[in-house]
Amino acid sequence: MVTRLVLILGDQLSPEIAALQAAGKAHDIVVMAEVTAEASYVRHHPKKIAFIFAAMRKFAARLRDDGWQVAYTRLDDTDNTNAIDSELVRRGAEFGATGVLITEPGEWRLIEALRSLSDESPMEFRWNSDSRFLASHAEFDAWAEGRKSLRMEYFYRDMRRKTGLLMDGDQPVEGKWNFDHDNRKPASDGAEFSGPMRFTPDPETQQVLDLVAQKFPSNFGSLDDFWFATDTSQARRALTHFIKTALPTFGDYQDAMLRDDRFLSHSVLSMYLNAGLLDPLEICQAAETAYKNGDAPINAAEGFIRQIIGWREYMRGIYFREGPDYPRRNALNHSRGLPDFYWSADTKMYCISKAVEQTQAEAYAHHIQRLMVTGNFALLAGIDPFQVHEWYLAVYADAYEWVEAPNVIGMSQFADGGIVGSKPYVSSGAYIDRMSDYCKSCAYKVKHKTGPDACPFNLLYWHFLDRHRDRFESNPRMAQMYRTWDRMDGDRRETVLADAGAFLEKLDSGQPV
Ligand SMILES: Cc1cc2nc3c(=O)[nH]c(=O)nc-3n(C[C@H](O)[C@H](O)[C@H](O)COP(=O)(O)OP(=O)(O)OC[C@H]3O[C@@H](n4cnc5c(N)ncnc54)[C@H](O)[C@@H]3O)c2cc1C
Ligand code: SF4
Repeated sequence: MVTRLVLILGDQLSPEIAALQAAGKAHDIVVMAEVTAEASYVRHHPKKIAFIFAAMRKFAARLRDDGWQVAYTRLDDTDNTNAIDSELVRRGAEFGATGVLITEPGEWRLIEALRSLSDESPMEFRWNSDSRFLASHAEFDAWAEGRKSLRMEYFYRDMRRKTGLLMDGDQPVEGKWNFDHDNRKPASDGAEFSGPMRFTPDPETQQVLDLVAQKFPSNFGSLDDFWFATDTSQARRALTHFIKTALPTFGDYQDAMLRDDRFLSHSVLSMYLNAGLLDPLEICQAAETAYKNGDAPINAAEGFIRQIIGWREYMRGIYFREGPDYPRRNALNHSRGLPDFYWSADTKMYCISKAVEQTQAEAYAHHIQRLMVTGNFALLAGIDPFQVHEWYLAVYADAYEWVEAPNVIGMSQFADGGIVGSKPYVSSGAYIDRMSDYCKSCAYKVKHKTGPDACPFNLLYWHFLDRHRDRFESNPRMAQMYRTWDRMDGDRRETVLADAGAFLEKLDSGQPV
């Protein structure tokens, strides 16, 4: 009888996963493994590790209940070889397996490790593409081929047509593809947010939490108050809760930030979605139904669906199209080390300390905190994008390279030279002040453009534009910024650049900023 190993990775926890679909319960054995190599290739947030291991254990139990034979390796098993490829070798020998069924992993690192194993191994490796995405690599490449620029908006429209989501025949409902213009409200006083659904850890999850506390005691991030869903039925309850309580205002407050609210109207579903506990279409259909029933306005439903069938799919397309060297790109030649306050939250910049503090507590920050606070500062200050990439990959519970790298290297740091973004996402403190209530609690003054208490974002914004003039001056989307800079009095420009230089010197010398 033929025995094949069916590899299920920690972010492939869906019964519909391709390798499982290609296997048979009678003669194939599911292999799942908690290994040090995966848990520590970057120093992941302990909540992220705990979430993945707990969800893996519960998924394995579900498969066993469903009649599958599962060979599961726990992190502290004495015979654990602690890497995915060596676990396949060990399990292959144990069961006399002749083949391995794989669903394509979401990181080049692991794809390459498995490819070299398959070159050497007597077992026959069968690769399956990951069908949990709307666009296959071939479809994305066909869309991208021959285009001068790969703008997400046009890809997104194709995904709307393909799925039929929010479509009226071949036209978008309410006559517009994109309602982003309505989605830039700051959170007004009195707006109320109930936050994501929280789950008390069950005994299996508690066991994992104890293990992670013992094995990863010094990783950045707190394990306290772990509340994540760890199986599909809980994740579905979290989805229903979001659709009911937060989707209606998702659009309005998508870009807002509040000192005392970590989640606002965000769904906080990305970690479930990326691990396979939820299906992207299922989520989008739930949002569409809410819209059709009159429970959510079009700007909310469209904005939310765009993030998933647009941005999420587009980012994956870019990652696989650009290849394994993508995270190492550094188009702007930035080389400054990542400041310590990305780990300690110890900075006078209130917006950054808030974002890092909440990341430490929750392994979560919402999009605008990632893009316009921590990302914006790193870009303005000229931090080495690879270090920025490793930070984001480590600290967020939803971070896997296929989605994190294009967001960081592409969207946030412009290190891919403009594949993802047509211009860099940079802003002065004025944007953060408009979209948040942070600045009134800050030691720096957002209205001050120069001087010792000037908001560092104000100084660094002009410093960035000035030092990258050759690259960006002729970009039509940046012309206005350069005109404003050029209209400034020469002495004032010099003062801004000198103050920005002094700030960067302080940063480099490790003085508190
Ligand atoms: C610098 C930076 C790093 C990021 N790293 C990651 C990451 O590692 N993993 C990750 O899933 N997302 C990442 N994002 C995208 C986005 O910030 C997160 O998906 C979002 O904050 C997750 O929170 P949420 O579930 O509450 O999202 P919501 O605001 O509720 O959005 C709904 C869903 O849309 C999807 N989505 C939204 N924006 C994006 C995007 N730009 N790319 C891909 N999917 C998107 C997510 O699946 C998300 O759950 C990053 C963005 C930036 C700017
Ligand atoms: S003043 Fe500047 S540094 Fe302080 S919170 Fe506002 S934007 Fe951030």
